[in-house]
Amino acid sequence: MLCNQCPRQCNALRTKSGNVGGVCGMPELPTVARAALHFWEEPCISGKNGSGTVFFSGCSLHCVFCQNDDISAKNKGKTISVNELVDIFKSLEAQGAHNINLVTPTHFVDSIIAALDIYKPSIPIVYNSSGYESVDTLKKLQGYVDIYLMDFKYIDDSKARLYSNATDYANVCKNALFEAYRQQNEFVFCDDIMQKGLIVRHLLLPAATRDAIAVFDWVRENIPNAYFSIMSQYLPLGKAADMPVINRRVTAREYNKVTDYILDSGFLNCYIQERSSADKNFIPNFDFTGIL
Ligand code: SF4
Repeated sequence: MLCNQCPRQCNALRTKSGNVGGVCGMPELPTVARAALHFWEEPCISGKNGSGTVFFSGCSLHCVFCQNDDISAKNKGKTISVNELVDIFKSLEAQGAHNINLVTPTHFVDSIIAALDIYKPSIPIVYNSSGYESVDTLKKLQGYVDIYLMDFKYIDDSKARLYSNATDYANVCKNALFEAYRQQNEFVFCDDIMQKGLIVRHLLLPAATRDAIAVFDWVRENIPNAYFSIMSQYLPLGKAADMPVINRRVTAREYNKVTDYILDSGFLNCYIQERSSADKNFIPNFDFTGIL
């Protein structure tokens, strides 16, 4: 296939096992690095049993601070067939997962849809994305995805360019969120576990409290039913360690400024991650666990 699946519009040749020139660097067939129960998502996603995460390799965004850069930038992963992806879904469901959580799935949407056409699990399908999505690709997922767990990383184009080389990120992400909300605007829970809905995530970066507040305000004004999740797990990893401004952790003062603003707003559909989450121990081990 010549791939234009995401906003990078590479028009790159992707074969079953290779990729010539595409930013994500991934073949057409799904490539995965871990499939296991995961307990560190929002409480309505992880619950007591865990979220059935499938960590896909490769990424179209390549943030300089990515904590998963072993799989997103260095492309560690095993290429599998669609039927093997089906078997992974079945295994996670049998382990008692509350949902199937597709992490960084954008470049494998066609294989994911093919797998779900073969077998649709009885638990919700979570699309866990960077927010750098084309609306046309998201439209293909209507009827397949139950929960959109979508980042809104940057509202400032200069930061999007500097940290992800994606100057168009904010507009692209806003349109992606509108499409996700068009598909999932009824919020359904069962025993505190989300069954349908949209959660917008924002990772608080160093020296970016105004950005975080602007993202929160945008979500509240434009998709007011959506849940908002402020994440504080930022660590200066990868290339970020050498970049001025972001080569440090978020301070307590920055964290408190943003969380106080959110709490004072009275907005209730909100998750606030504790500062102690900024710890390398929370980074998953990409050791091919669960890859059958
Ligand atoms: S999915 Fe990969 S190859 Fe396709 S347009 Fe996006 S980055 Fe390029």
